[in-house]
Amino acid sequence: MAAKRRATKRSSSAGSGSGGSSGYSLVRLQDFIGNQDLVSRVKRASLPQSALFAGPEGVGKKTLALGLAARTDCRNRPGEDFCGNCESCSKVAGGNHPDIRLFQATGTSIGIETIRHLIREARFRPFQGAYRVFIVDQAEKMTREAANSILKTLEEPAETSRIILTTAFPNQLLPTIRSRCQLFVFRPLTRNQLRNYLEIRYGAEEAEQRAAFAGGSIGRALRLDLEQTLQDRDRVLTVLQQWLSNASFTQLFEACEKEPMRRDLKSRDRVREHLEILRHLGEDLYFLRTGTESRMVNLDRRERLLELAKRVDLDWIRDLLYHLREAREDLDRNVQPLFCFETLWLKLAGRA
Ligand SMILES: [Zn+2]
Repeated sequence: MAAKRRATKRSSSAGSGSGGSSGYSLVRLQDFIGNQDLVSRVKRASLPQSALFAGPEGVGKKTLALGLAARTDCRNRPGEDFCGNCESCSKVAGGNHPDIRLFQATGTSIGIETIRHLIREARFRPFQGAYRVFIVDQAEKMTREAANSILKTLEEPAETSRIILTTAFPNQLLPTIRSRCQLFVFRPLTRNQLRNYLEIRYGAEEAEQRAAFAGGSIGRALRLDLEQTLQDRDRVLTVLQQWLSNASFTQLFEACEKEPMRRDLKSRDRVREHLEILRHLGEDLYFLRTGTESRMVNLDRRERLLELAKRVDLDWIRDLLYHLREAREDLDRNVQPLFCFETLWLKLAGRA
């Protein structure tokens, strides 16, 4: 059930806004997109003292946390929601409500000083509402020291304090942190939910494409450089095509040596994007082979992909998807990006 309209301030429900002094992007609970079972669950209940919001990036974890925080002190509280207009809601949106604090990484990590600050503040009584709410966004970025220091506060927060941690990587948190929090699992959005949401802003055709490439994340759908993605897609598709016609390493290495591929393959983020595109192409081949075309991402390249689908069997596609997962893991383990990309093709050699 996708929502129809936005409530206050900026229009993303993805939690991709940065907040801070420029304010936070608030979305009323009734307008929240996706994860409706979870939203109605938290709407009925009061906030647990320590909560962990876990789920993929860009599905609204921070946004829902801020919404629940805004609700604690909303003067109107229409239908278990917050109003977005009262003095308290305006302060939350402006990032200056004294009882609602959002902690985010500065640089790549959340250090001990930030968490000490939180721990100190969590002992105070609320200034104006019934609760103080502390949100730690991307909690996996806490340093080990910071993570250890928050444990006691998570276990025994002050009666009037609520702590919400959000993360797309729950496994990177200390098990002792996970066990102290009530877990709320967010799922990726469906393509329909994304498309309906994006259609007003981008029109039907572009909404369809953005929804297809976004992998269930509103944040990604909004940030996506569509033109660049389509260019990348065609380049990766050409490599795949060449590979399936002759599996020539010479040709592959030549392609990798040419700009802009050469530059892209030096960047971890760009290789991650290329692997993601290749995964979509691989899945499309699978959908074509199994008669489930409606699920394809690259429908506009159906003819080219159909040609390729005739040359591979399902085992080859499964191998491709399996090795892609390995390549992504290698990339996360800091293996050199170009090496990840080339190794993937080496593994596929002899299978085509
Ligand atoms: Zn309000």
